Amino acid sequence: MDIIDMTGTLDSSGLRPNAPQLIVVHSTRSYPEFGDLLAFHRERGFAGVGYHFFISASNRVYQARPMNIEGAHALGFNLRSVGICVHSKDGSIGKGVSETARALLTFVRGSIGDIEVISHTYAQVAYLNRLLDERGFGTHFDYGSDAVDPTVFDRARSELERFLDGNAGCDEDIRRIITGFKNCPGPMFNDIVRVRAP
Ligand SMILES: [Zn+2]
Repeated sequence: MDIIDMTGTLDSSGLRPNAPQLIVVHSTRSYPEFGDLLAFHRERGFAGVGYHFFISASNRVYQARPMNIEGAHALGFNLRSVGICVHSKDGSIGKGVSETARALLTFVRGSIGDIEVISHTYAQVAYLNRLLDERGFGTHFDYGSDAVDPTVFDRARSELERFLDGNAGCDEDIRRIITGFKNCPGPMFNDIVRVRAP
């Protein structure tokens, strides 16, 4: 696996250090190639592509940020994770891309240690739980790594929306996570992290 070094596109002045304890996996449907993603993230005011790594529609691996620099990809995790985004046009990936993604995970773990891999879906739930805890809500949402399953995700989203309806006065951070809750990268997460029995 070759990694195309695009870290030169990042304006790292003012960015904080990152101490990765997790790898967070994302997907994008809209931005097939690195330049598309870079333009979009710059438009959003980011210092460059928000993820550390990106696997493009053409199955190329780009590094957008050094791993010891903060990311801009998962609220609550940007100072303690490596963000990886995989392009997928329709929410699924072929064998070639899943092999590339697995090789990239092996590379990252080989560089910084055998850290856990989670989906962005799960990262959102974990951050929400942390905020609910800090702010004394006494509620905890129990969706684990299976939250990328569409049935589990739909159930989770309904439950979170009901929570928001019942807690109209809750703060903006909590509201923002719940209203923006999305299944990222969705079920293809399992194609990346789970090696299935033949
Ligand atoms: Zn994501």
